[in-house]
Amino acid sequence: MSMVGALAASRPVGPGARLGILGGGQLGRMTALAAARLGISCHIFTPEDNGPASQVCPMVTLAAYDDIDALSRFAASVDILTFEFENIPAASVAHLAALRPVRPGWKALETAQDRILEKRFFNDLGIATAPWAPVTDGPESLAEAVAKIGCPAILKTTRLGYDGKGQVRLNAPGDSVAAWAALGNRPAVLEGLVPFVSEISVIIARAADGATACFEPTLNHHREGILHTSSVPAPIRPQTALAARAIAESAALALDLVGLLAVELFVLADGALLVNEMAPRPHNSGHWTMDACHTDQFEQFVRAVCGLPLGDPSRFRAMRMTNLIGDEVHDWPLLMATPGARLHLYGKVESRRGRKMGHVNTPV
Ligand code: AMP
Repeated sequence: MSMVGALAASRPVGPGARLGILGGGQLGRMTALAAARLGISCHIFTPEDNGPASQVCPMVTLAAYDDIDALSRFAASVDILTFEFENIPAASVAHLAALRPVRPGWKALETAQDRILEKRFFNDLGIATAPWAPVTDGPESLAEAVAKIGCPAILKTTRLGYDGKGQVRLNAPGDSVAAWAALGNRPAVLEGLVPFVSEISVIIARAADGATACFEPTLNHHREGILHTSSVPAPIRPQTALAARAIAESAALALDLVGLLAVELFVLADGALLVNEMAPRPHNSGHWTMDACHTDQFEQFVRAVCGLPLGDPSRFRAMRMTNLIGDEVHDWPLLMATPGARLHLYGKVESRRGRKMGHVNTPV
């Protein structure tokens, strides 16, 4: 066991240390690249062979997230642990936490894993969400939820939904049975359809000593449920930006989060905000920070989880991030030839429909 791992979790883990990351996707890849710049090497734990993160890391454990022996060996090889993917089983997180500091802790992961816990968490803090009702007991509870929320509405699985997956729209109560079946009869929440004028997100870093640093809110556009662009500055009122930051700050505090928290929000016509969802990790809507901020979200994440001082999150230029989804990645020669454009590719071999292959940051 290394010195740092054996000592109090508040000790900083500086250059020369090893950071363990659960998850092997592009978020892990960009985190590992940022860590490398600070002299911190990463060990990736992933069930996916040759994923985006594994390609840039010296150490990779290829195993399932519930492989306790592999988790033990992984923990023993690193000083501190974090996640680029929050859907890790509770038993695995508890096992790891007994061996090394795990940041963020279980409360943040647990809350983000389950849409019901997540919505309750925000509502208990006095933070508004779309009107919602749990649908955990089959078609009868869906009928009750429809009676309460009305239509149109969106039925979302409580767990493992992302990029619009695990969601079905209900235009009329008569759609209930088909919607429930379409989601595979899994526990869900029914959400009222929100008449938002825009979607924004905000990412906050919180250090072990409670210090915070917030990136400015970004304006997000989705296509087919998948984030397409994130732009800064977002055309929102100053008080809306302040309110978004305050929401992120109170959520991070209530979760006692150490690391990053991304909060996605709907902006209503009167400027009021409703939380859509959160993620306790770097977020796609923060990729613009890589080429527009003094400290980007990935470096900030590494700093926060390693107990290092947070960096300056301020922005030095206006920027638009565009995701390259599926075959859009084949535009890379054009993007590479575009003055000022900064291309980030994730090393994914196959460009399937709806798959995030890379992004490009374009100054605006
Ligand atoms: P989600 O996976 O929950 O982030 O949903 C993906 C996208 O679907 C969001 O970014 C919105 O564009 C849209 N969406 C989700 N929930 C709602 C809602 N309650 N009302 C209106 N649009 C929604």
